[in-house]
Amino acid sequence: MFRRAQNVDCITTDMQKITNCQAKCLSSAMDKDNVRKIRYNYWTMSSLRRTMWLMDKITETNIVNRRRYFRIAGGHDICWECFCNLYHINGNFYYNTLKKVKAKMVSPGASGIHFRKRGPKFYTMMNWFQEYVECHGDRMPHQAEVYLPYKTRKKAIYLRYRSEVPEAYSKSAFDQMCKAYFWFVKVKTVSIVFIEIQGSKAFP
Ligand SMILES: [Zn+2]
Repeated sequence: MFRRAQNVDCITTDMQKITNCQAKCLSSAMDKDNVRKIRYNYWTMSSLRRTMWLMDKITETNIVNRRRYFRIAGGHDICWECFCNLYHINGNFYYNTLKKVKAKMVSPGASGIHFRKRGPKFYTMMNWFQEYVECHGDRMPHQAEVYLPYKTRKKAIYLRYRSEVPEAYSKSAFDQMCKAYFWFVKVKTVSIVFIEIQGSKAFP
């Protein structure tokens, strides 16, 4: 996928789509090297980081005339289709992630921790868990869900976090963070039916 996204023909085709956009998102085609650079940053992230990145992007979008707009470098707002064409993001992957963000998004203040007011301690916890999931999770292409091995216990993960991070949060804050930001992390069951993380039921 990375090589495809960097391919000149692929960039040309996608740029053509952006130029043809009904919403006229960009007045002129973007410089191909620029597009390649933008895509490089996206496609060299791990798949988990790409999901997190897209989730963040979606939460920052604006809706104008029932169309979702993404802000890109240079301060341009482009529609979701142009956004996907610019990064060469698969439409199914985009929809899958959008649906999940909409369904699970915690409204500001609903959880004890507010996204914008987070400090380094919170990001340390997020990064720690992100690395844990990257190390232990499995992911199918174009799916937002990441699956941890069968019988993974949330409590054990928390205890490991607490033993590795000097200034650790409480278990309930850890749970809240998982629920709000890692809703796409699930635990494999033996029958290949997956259990979804839902509040206290997370990591059964
Ligand atoms: Zn557009």
